[in-house]
Amino acid sequence: SPAVAQVAYHDGEFVPLERAVLPVTTQALQYGTGVFEGIRAYAQDDGSLAIFRAHDHYRRLLRSSRTLRIDPGRSVEELCELTAELLRRIGTSEDTYIRPLAYKRALLPGRKPGVGLSGVSDALSVNAFRMGSYTDPAGIRCTISSWRRPTSDALPVRAKVTGGYVNNALAVDEARAAGCDDAILLNSRGQVAEASTSNVFAVIGGRLVTPPATADLLEGITRDTVVTLAEDLLQTPTDFRDMGRDDLAGADEVFLTGTGTEIVPVTELAGRPVAEGTPGSLTTALMRAYQDVVRGKEPHYRHWLHPVHA
Ligand code: PMP
Repeated sequence: SPAVAQVAYHDGEFVPLERAVLPVTTQALQYGTGVFEGIRAYAQDDGSLAIFRAHDHYRRLLRSSRTLRIDPGRSVEELCELTAELLRRIGTSEDTYIRPLAYKRALLPGRKPGVGLSGVSDALSVNAFRMGSYTDPAGIRCTISSWRRPTSDALPVRAKVTGGYVNNALAVDEARAAGCDDAILLNSRGQVAEASTSNVFAVIGGRLVTPPATADLLEGITRDTVVTLAEDLLQTPTDFRDMGRDDLAGADEVFLTGTGTEIVPVTELAGRPVAEGTPGSLTTALMRAYQDVVRGKEPHYRHWLHPVHA
């Protein structure tokens, strides 16, 4: 593959990646007061590159930003175009992962040090790197974490806040120590919330089920894509309802969805196989449909692809 430039967008300009650095006094580093996104750009069949659901990701970034009183100073449209320009400068036409970060930067002059959200400057950085699929299509092993998802009255769990990911990191660490790939977290009510960086779906009695937004989860864009594709292409509506761990244990299929994860079957849960311990038929059909859509093979969903013109 051709050499690509190492470029990031940082403090209002495109700079070599090694110049996109921050001082140790950065407020977001000390207090977790940043918001971020994970976005993928996919190589299309015609050789071009396109960003999948860029508008939706940046709408969510701006929603998350408002929660922390961060003003990234850009509209959704400007953020999409800035990202396309970053990818053009990097000069790749291969699958890429994009990481925008809007964050609290430095105390404004005359402000006292402290943990608040006002009196602190805001900043925006976007970096990107080549990344293909990284989950195993044959399935992954998950634990049920002993760490619970924080409730939405303790942390704004519907916003993608950097500080909140301490919870996710502890859950993944515990899962890895147990020899598993990922963790499914229950919320404070003991209902299924989500996995460390993915949403959870199950097939139960022939119905596709996922927990509702009120289960203290991040409303994934991939979750929305899967709900849409299941309904439109596979005539399978989704039930949004609370699930306990016993629902997952008795499910015919369990799978995770996320921008990074894409769609991955969970074939082992808490030390037991899910059904026969092999990817289920609805999971497999959705995985195939998803790849068709992100690669521009389904004309009906081309509006989800933001082109990066060469
Ligand atoms: N939940 C959490 C905690 C996540 O970090 C992610 C990844 N952004 C998701 C769910 C899935 O969201 P999306 O499909 O928008 O990537």
